[in-house]
Amino acid sequence: MTATNLLDLDLDGLAAFCESLGEKRFRATQLFRWIHQRGASDFEQMSDLAKSLRGKLAGCATVTGLPVLTQQESADGTIKWLFDVGNGDAVEAVFIPEDDRGTLCVSSQAGCAVGCRFCSTGHQGFSRNLSTGEIVAQLWFAEHFLRRHLGRDERVISNVVMMGMGEPLQNYGALVPALRTMLDDNAYGLSRRRVTVSTSGVVPMMDRLGADCPVALAVSLHAPNDALRDDLVPLNRKYPLAELMSACKRYLEPAPRDFITFEYCMLDGVNDQPEHARQLIELVRTSGVSCKFNLIPFNPFPASGLLRSPAPRVQAFARQVADAGIVTTVRKTRGDDIDAACGQLAGDVKDRTRAAERMAERRVVMMRKAESPPADRQPVGEAAR
Ligand code: SAH
Ligand code: SF4
Repeated sequence: MTATNLLDLDLDGLAAFCESLGEKRFRATQLFRWIHQRGASDFEQMSDLAKSLRGKLAGCATVTGLPVLTQQESADGTIKWLFDVGNGDAVEAVFIPEDDRGTLCVSSQAGCAVGCRFCSTGHQGFSRNLSTGEIVAQLWFAEHFLRRHLGRDERVISNVVMMGMGEPLQNYGALVPALRTMLDDNAYGLSRRRVTVSTSGVVPMMDRLGADCPVALAVSLHAPNDALRDDLVPLNRKYPLAELMSACKRYLEPAPRDFITFEYCMLDGVNDQPEHARQLIELVRTSGVSCKFNLIPFNPFPASGLLRSPAPRVQAFARQVADAGIVTTVRKTRGDDIDAACGQLAGDVKDRTRAAERMAERRVVMMRKAESPPADRQPVGEAAR
């Protein structure tokens, strides 16, 4: 029998597991707290559990995180980790510190099947879904690493955004127990308003999320009409804008926030014209979805063939949408010196040789960064809100 990785279980799952060992439910709560609140992985450390239980657990369970391949720290305090998920696949998580919060941007898949034109993860194709344990392991590791790194006793990560690699709503079965663990007071105790699922618009799963585990929702819109969105976000061909906007409206009923955040990646000459802003305003008005806009300056990568909209055009677009009475922000870019900004999370999918080369390149870059302070850089987008 293979050992059960307890990071795969939310509290209900852990209770069922404990019951299968003939233990009472409250033991699961104790165990859950040791793992998630204290970062423990060694059952012998869990001093308030009976010795007999510790022995049983050692025989059939583990608490196994993900191996860290690299860690890069940006001059602005942003930290990016590359985690090994086996078979040449790796995924990234990014910590973004701000004065009033600490946000972790978490991956849900190795690669992504949606294939958006402007996204480096999408260009790699899909490798596989992460398990619940692999999603939770990113938070488990980051939270406890950061407490040690920053010398803090209390919680460091206050917000999680599912905006790393992958489409979370195409990995629904693994996502929901991971979200439950994030929200659980016996684990990370995050507020539903501070856990955000970002989706390219998997309509049926938006409804299920609203019913099963409502959290804040961000929808990656990127285009104000179906023709353009079909091209930029291929999933639009399956769930076109009218359906997507209706799903947003339905989601607002159970949602912990009274608005949807629409993300809109600003692509030079593609979706950034006054006419696009006009259509966007019209789309929001006719659908009646209460929303905020977050404009993301595109973070270019060579294979995309796309360019970032010039800053004055982003500002003009933002003003036009804001003047129509829709709250609009432009995302600041964080961590761009370590390729941690939105859409730059590439991980290393499929090709083992290439993965090894890239990791070696990254190590060289890290060493260079350690030798000399990073050069001045243009601000770029932040991975999270
Ligand atoms: N798959 C989900 C979540 C991950 S992507 C989604 O698409 O919503 C997180 C955000 O980063 C999305 O809004 C996405 O559109 C944006 N993004 C992707 N590539 C980008 C790039 N190259 N520059 C800026 N933002 C990008
Ligand atoms: Fe997938 Fe999101 Fe990237 Fe689109 S933007 S390819 S949905 S990760």
